[in-house]
Amino acid sequence: MNVQIFSELFDKYNWQNTLEKIYSFKEEHVKTALNKEQLTPHDFAALISPAAKQFLPQMITKSKLLTQQRFGKNILMYAPLYLSNECKNICTYCGFSFDHKIKRKVLSDTEILTEAHYLKNKGFDHLLLVTGEDNQHANVNYIAHAIDLLRPLFSNISIEVQPLDTDEYKLLLEKNIYAVLIYQETYHKENYKTYHPKGKKSNFYYRLETPDRIGKANMHKIGMGVLLGLEDWRTDSFFTALHLDYLQKKYWKTRYSVSFPRIRPAVGSIKENIHMSDEELIQLITAYRIFNPDLELSLSTRESPELRNKLIEIGITTISTGSKTNPGGYVVEPQALEQFEVHDDRGSEEMTKVLEQKGYEPLWKDWDIALFD
Ligand code: SF4
Repeated sequence: MNVQIFSELFDKYNWQNTLEKIYSFKEEHVKTALNKEQLTPHDFAALISPAAKQFLPQMITKSKLLTQQRFGKNILMYAPLYLSNECKNICTYCGFSFDHKIKRKVLSDTEILTEAHYLKNKGFDHLLLVTGEDNQHANVNYIAHAIDLLRPLFSNISIEVQPLDTDEYKLLLEKNIYAVLIYQETYHKENYKTYHPKGKKSNFYYRLETPDRIGKANMHKIGMGVLLGLEDWRTDSFFTALHLDYLQKKYWKTRYSVSFPRIRPAVGSIKENIHMSDEELIQLITAYRIFNPDLELSLSTRESPELRNKLIEIGITTISTGSKTNPGGYVVEPQALEQFEVHDDRGSEEMTKVLEQKGYEPLWKDWDIALFD
């Protein structure tokens, strides 16, 4: 389908019809998808449908095999570094929401370097810089400056910050960032507004079109996902796969990753609307792997140690560990309020042991910006 921007394709779909279609898949659709070499988003939808539940053992086996063929028994390690919890948006599920009376903090140069040296000493070489969405304190100039400060210490720096314009992404690319992570949170256009009642983030289409702007800037990697627990996870995941499929065809030089954040408790935030079980999370991860064997699948510390130990072996390629989700959380101000509660608090040493016991190798570096200089 020839469209200029993803929103044109998205607008051809209707949430309710899509949901009903996913829930109406039959066993034969799942079998067809499982036996195909090249899957479409429609096949992916069959694999995440209720009809695919009985095929979970086959999906796990296939996912494991495809992951090991493409990535070996390697798990890439990264750490988030929260730079700021200033945020001008109200998001009903987040501890940093503008309407929460919390102490706001934007790390200074010295504080950024203190946190960074701590992570470097723990072995990390891939860093994810995270900020709230705030054009005043943690704007693109602040982020660019932080990258300049950190560049000598880390060979791979990615960002998860407010959506930017293409020129701003180009500027950060010149600073040698590797990836931009941007989560749509939900593709349910009507309900999106109830979770994002105020601030720039309440503009559904500006967010939806962000990966296009990142792709146009020729970014090395785009990370995607939805917040699982807001709306029907199957329908939201279908739209993520549709979006991914569109982006891969259009910006084919860019690499892609998907994450699967399930809602975690945070001060003042809503609880999940729709529960997604551990088994369903496994179904989703294996479906992504079968849909796209090259896709990086990333897992944060939101999940429990027991579940993370299992998921590592079925399709995940990238994990964070020992994470703090508050600015200054590693050294500078460990007591500050977190964005969400971490469920797996194992540090990098412990996680390394777990991986090695399972016959996996923790990878601290799989890419260096110097290759592109
Ligand atoms: S999810 Fe992001 S934009 Fe929303 S309140 Fe939290 S930090 Fe701000």
